[in-house]
Amino acid sequence: MLKKQILSKICLALACSFCTQLTHSQQIIERDPMIEKMVNEVSSDSLRTYVEKLVSFGTRSTLSSTTDKKRGIGAAREWVLLKFQQFAQHSEGRLKASLDTVTLPADKRRLDVATNLGNVIAYLIGTDPTDKRVFMISGHIDSRSTDVMNRTNDAPGANDDGSGVAAVLEAARIMSKHSFPATILFVAFSGEEQGLLGAEYMASKMKDQQIELEALLNNDIMGSNHSNGTNIINNTMVRVFSEGLPAFETDKKAGMLRSFGLENDGAPRQLARYIKEVGERYVDNLEVKLIYRSDRYLRGGDQTPFLQKGFTAIRISEMNENFDHQHQDLRTEKNIVYGDLTEYMDFEYLRKNTALNLSCLANLAKSPAKPETVKMEVKNLSNFTNLSWKGLPEHMARGFYVLIRESSSPVWQKKIFTSQNSISLPYSKDNYIFAVQSVSNNNNESLPVLPTADR
Ligand SMILES: [Zn+2]
Repeated sequence: MLKKQILSKICLALACSFCTQLTHSQQIIERDPMIEKMVNEVSSDSLRTYVEKLVSFGTRSTLSSTTDKKRGIGAAREWVLLKFQQFAQHSEGRLKASLDTVTLPADKRRLDVATNLGNVIAYLIGTDPTDKRVFMISGHIDSRSTDVMNRTNDAPGANDDGSGVAAVLEAARIMSKHSFPATILFVAFSGEEQGLLGAEYMASKMKDQQIELEALLNNDIMGSNHSNGTNIINNTMVRVFSEGLPAFETDKKAGMLRSFGLENDGAPRQLARYIKEVGERYVDNLEVKLIYRSDRYLRGGDQTPFLQKGFTAIRISEMNENFDHQHQDLRTEKNIVYGDLTEYMDFEYLRKNTALNLSCLANLAKSPAKPETVKMEVKNLSNFTNLSWKGLPEHMARGFYVLIRESSSPVWQKKIFTSQNSISLPYSKDNYIFAVQSVSNNNNESLPVLPTADR
């Protein structure tokens, strides 16, 4: 009897978690076999090999040697470049790798001398020349010890951010064997610890060149499962940090967001929801936690310069951080070992977090262009909601998904397919939030577009 009761409770709990944590689409949208295959190729052994190699450079401080062949950031970035070049050999010419360097002058903050900075970049060029969209995954190659100005001490940086760079490499290895209509960019930034310098340099450049970067998935500290102090061990959850109100928002736009209650619907938050839905579709035993802030207290990340320039970016980080193993000189004090070493990482967890990135990047790069001119009719008082948008050529899109959620729900709750360019729904626009996605024949959906009011 007792057993039966416990069982029914478990069933109820499961049913409940399906209602509250997953969108309905989870139960109806089939996985794209190509993405599923790539996800299955993500290897914890590969990831471990990359992290161990990165640690072997002793320090990857941005201020360390750029000319020493064995130790320092110069040797590390050359190695990442070499890996990209090796992957390029299996890409039929689609993957191109380069080291983008710039010499920055000394500043009064974290550069005490003029410094040669180098971002390592690989482009997987899209196969559709008319598709200008770019999707990007990043981590930072530089590491630090307790004193951010120290350039000689060991600074292994296994998890911060060997984990992020390993994810970038593994995604490049697997994805470069396949083709996608849109372009994918794989990046290891330099200068993160010295003040997000490499990201700032690249974000400015992309803005100047008017590159259509639709989404940046920045990965920083994502391979350890064990919090210090609270001693929580869990490798089934990962955080996606997303900014609420855009940093560059104008007063006029802010007024509109206030009156329609859209403060929770900026582009980074839509990207975060997308990662939760698509990532959980492809990666088993991983729950994406949406964190409604752009980063943690006292910390920042490479997504920020991109957000400040109006690009859509989020940060992916582990759920339970261990501050004994970040930004610390290697030492033992009162039986506590400090330092960012490989032995404190969980490569099965890093595998899942890498697969999360890969599945979302692939789904985005295979998706049709976002629907254009999405409008919601507000001419009359009505309990129906009428939406319309511009169609897409048949070869590009199978149709569209209309997304619906209550204004207080963090995730989309209904996902309705239509092959038409308009829909009338018996859900009042006063009570729900709506968006529209384009969807391909393989169920790859675009980022959602919120309607504008059509008076
Ligand atoms: Zn970091």
